[in-house]
Amino acid sequence: MLPLSRFPDDRAKRVRYVFTDLDDTLTTDGQLGPEAYAALWKLTQAGIQVVVVSGRPAGWCDHLARMWPVAGVIGENGALYYRYERTTRTLSRKYLLHPDERQLAQKKLARLEKQILKAVPAARVAADQAFRLHDLAIDFAEDVGPLPKADVARIAELFEKAGAVAKVSSIHVNGWFGAYDKITMIQKFAEEVWGQRFDNKRRREAALYVGDSPNDEPAFAFFENAVGVAGIRGFVDQMAHPPSYVTRGDGGAGFVQLAQKLIRARSAH
Ligand SMILES: [Mg+2]
Repeated sequence: MLPLSRFPDDRAKRVRYVFTDLDDTLTTDGQLGPEAYAALWKLTQAGIQVVVVSGRPAGWCDHLARMWPVAGVIGENGALYYRYERTTRTLSRKYLLHPDERQLAQKKLARLEKQILKAVPAARVAADQAFRLHDLAIDFAEDVGPLPKADVARIAELFEKAGAVAKVSSIHVNGWFGAYDKITMIQKFAEEVWGQRFDNKRRREAALYVGDSPNDEPAFAFFENAVGVAGIRGFVDQMAHPPSYVTRGDGGAGFVQLAQKLIRARSAH
């Protein structure tokens, strides 16, 4: 990983789409600070489309899509995207799974929940579970813990043994049934909303992804412009595809550094 200062200005200038993780990328210690929120507005005002890409539940995405200065929100690790069209006052909701598949998945996840809590009693079902449609989120570091890495690995292993996909964020292990991840939905969003394909290097270089943890890895692997905020350093030993660049600041402060760089590069002649 290179420091963000090494990210070439001419490349920064060509970035029109920013996909950003939410927890510990935009937020710091669980809160969205004023600078990070202002950075979202500044990016949008500079003509850069920002999409939040998160493991957070559908219920949160509904709010974010409507009220935040973003082009849309991808939630539940890629199971859905919501976007609000201000001119027509329409909130559109798109899902990857058919409702029947979703129902079946929910049944299987309910069984897994019991198993996981029995095997790792210090873990808890995430507080935002009630607002989820597709996955089960097990909290290991938000309102409990942080639990030891071995417990986190055990949770992920139980999901995988049952045939589910498991992704570890900085606070939750999310498990789901279905062949999707953040990158699948990023591509669908770009194509459906902007008519933009990321099918070659030049096209992908119009976009940038920023995140902080292993559940961002598919996007780090996919985009040439992949940036981690400083917290990513704590996970690099578990990752085959770390981001190419890393910010000095962590969480929201790192995101602000990135936003400043992109905006400055755009306004330079
Ligand atoms: Mg995160």
